[in-house]
Amino acid sequence: MYLGFCDLLMDFDLSREEALFRDSVREFGERYIKPHWVDLDEGKYSLLELIPRLAEHGLIGLTLSSKYGGSEGSFLMAAIAAEELANADPSLAVPVYFLLETAWPFIVQRYAKDSTKEEVLPRLTKGEAWIGIASTEPQGGSDVGNERTEAKLVNGKWLLTGEKNMVTGVSIALRLPYGGGFVTITRTGPIEAKHRAITTMLFMVKRNGVVNTGFETRDYEEWGRRGIPTGYLRLNGAPVDPDFVLGEVNNGFKIAMEGFDVARTLIGAAALGTARWMLEQGREWIRSRVVFGKPISSYQSISFKYAELSTRLEAARLMVYKAAWLADKFYRGDSSVSILDIANAGAMAKMLAVELAVDVGLEVMKWFGGMSYYKETPVTRAFLGALSYYVGAEGAQNILRLIVARNLIGREVE
Ligand SMILES: Cc1cc2nc3c(=O)[nH]c(=O)nc-3n(C[C@H](O)[C@H](O)[C@H](O)COP(=O)(O)OP(=O)(O)OC[C@H]3O[C@@H](n4cnc5c(N)ncnc54)[C@H](O)[C@@H]3O)c2cc1C
Repeated sequence: MYLGFCDLLMDFDLSREEALFRDSVREFGERYIKPHWVDLDEGKYSLLELIPRLAEHGLIGLTLSSKYGGSEGSFLMAAIAAEELANADPSLAVPVYFLLETAWPFIVQRYAKDSTKEEVLPRLTKGEAWIGIASTEPQGGSDVGNERTEAKLVNGKWLLTGEKNMVTGVSIALRLPYGGGFVTITRTGPIEAKHRAITTMLFMVKRNGVVNTGFETRDYEEWGRRGIPTGYLRLNGAPVDPDFVLGEVNNGFKIAMEGFDVARTLIGAAALGTARWMLEQGREWIRSRVVFGKPISSYQSISFKYAELSTRLEAARLMVYKAAWLADKFYRGDSSVSILDIANAGAMAKMLAVELAVDVGLEVMKWFGGMSYYKETPVTRAFLGALSYYVGAEGAQNILRLIVARNLIGREVE
């Protein structure tokens, strides 16, 4: 068979526009984030100071419609931005802010009523509002179909009762001028109905400057990524306007899963950025650190590990880009891609990139020797940032394996 006239369909180059965008985010990171990331992690600099700059640069609601002030960017561009922001803030507070404010507002744009979108999204893209995710509950975050937070319709308002755990950004939403809310997974039918009685709604902790009633919150003290707070949200009859229900009542499980699917691809991208930064630090160090009369990079147990981790970084980036590319195809209406393809690729992207970032962190800390144990060596901050995604945030690593196994083997996989 003569194949000389085949089109070269596979193209590993970024387009000119994508490459320029990557350079502009890299420059933004160098200028506005790198000088502050350690202070941000130490609580000496506030994320709130960066939010207006991110908004000016079009980095809030990157994939939203220009109708709401969004940049109409692709998920590939969002992945590129998440990697660059994580390279500038390897402890991950800024990239986490960026990726949450890309994925969950996108879900609101797809499923909220027009009046809700017109009210909240333009404030979000200006950096005045927050949209996060409130899914996890104290009895376990992985089994979303088993969630207990109840929503009951009383006198024309949904009233929420229950507890959400480890919710990122509540205290940020409370400090922004408009406020903000959370794509919240609630039960609107009997527990036996599992995912068929789940409704997703945008629960506002503060709306138009007015703090909602019926909830309590407190931030946890964290080991890593300390520039962005996570806490609990105790709901004691907290009201939600019926216009803030996303999609149909009892049909919210799929909506929430779609949000996790796109968010995971961007988490993979953020993990690439922190892994890249740690490897860059490691490379400098092993070439200059002389032990037994030679730079430690000359010992194969170190240089081979560097080569192996760099290879895994390249492979993980290909997976992240593929997952983002599939999401772009799906949302542009290409019927050859299904939502299951996005779920599968997003899970693979997060699994590969996060495990890589944690492995890179542990290895590079060993290269730094005893000094990695002290705050003078910032690599440990990056490792702790990556660890947040390794132990749970937006899906535990085993749950990603479960998603992939079910897709590839069948629903019988438990
Ligand atoms: C820094 C940080 C930020 C977070 N931000 C948010 C947020 O903004 N909003 C939000 O809703 N949640 C958030 N979370 C919570 C996160 O989503 C949960 O930690 C995650 O979903 C796992 O839930 P869990 O911790 O309750 O673990 P569990 O569900 O209790 O699972 C415990 C362990 O069992 C394993 N496991 C469970 N089921 C299976 C199975 N079938 N097969 C094999 N192993 C299994 C899991 O992999 C895990 O290792 C955040 C977490 C962290 C650490």
